Amino acid sequence: MYKRILIKVSGEALAGSKGYGLDTAAIHVVAEQLCKISDMGVELGVVIGGGNFWRGRDCKIEDRVTTDYIGMLGTAMNALALGDTIKSLGHECDVMSALDLHEVADTFDTRTARKKLADKHIVIFSCGTGHPYFSTDTGAALRAIEIGAEAILMGKAIDAVYDSDPKKNPNAKIIENPTLDDIISMNLQIMDIPAASLCKQNNMPIVFFPANEASNMSDLVSGKISGLIIK
Ligand code: UDP
Repeated sequence: MYKRILIKVSGEALAGSKGYGLDTAAIHVVAEQLCKISDMGVELGVVIGGGNFWRGRDCKIEDRVTTDYIGMLGTAMNALALGDTIKSLGHECDVMSALDLHEVADTFDTRTARKKLADKHIVIFSCGTGHPYFSTDTGAALRAIEIGAEAILMGKAIDAVYDSDPKKNPNAKIIENPTLDDIISMNLQIMDIPAASLCKQNNMPIVFFPANEASNMSDLVSGKISGLIIK
């Protein structure tokens, strides 16, 4: 069993069948799973995405910096919704933000985050890295390393790692036992390259689980089911 982990929850896991915005039933499913994992005694940090509201790289606003700040603010909205739901289930939970949003969240610092985790609080890290041109995958890699997590559990809609995009290339082949080096050297799009590089440099394994199966997260942590492990 893990002592401390970081779970990356994609924004779409909070959107339910609508596929955008927030869905209270979907948020409950994720919150219940996180509480279950915390109840197993696992110290739990969570990085939440924002793709249910906005993805900077897909949006046509003049300045990429502005679009990315909009994306980061989307992750803050998700974090607040998830954090309150976790608290309503009777768990201690803190929302920290990489951007200064002091009316609604504590600004992230490593020492406070580690202390809250050691006190068995679930800690949600919002606003990714706090910098444009990054993604919440990179935010997850960074926070996992900073808090001393043993692994990142990464919610993504992937079943296997292919040597090229199977949606574009019908001859794409599955890579058996893929590594972070494969992702980096072949520029595979299953996660951001900066995130893969940070994990590689810091020996941080990543366990992928299907993004739309948030209800399986606790089974993954308890070892009842296995995810795709890349290191
Ligand atoms: N973002 C950013 N810097 C970060 C993290 C996120 O600028 O460190 C912005 C970026 O525009 C991104 C959006 O926030 O597209 C939402 O994050 P992401 O796409 O990673 O969310 P997910 O797809 O995981 O739900």
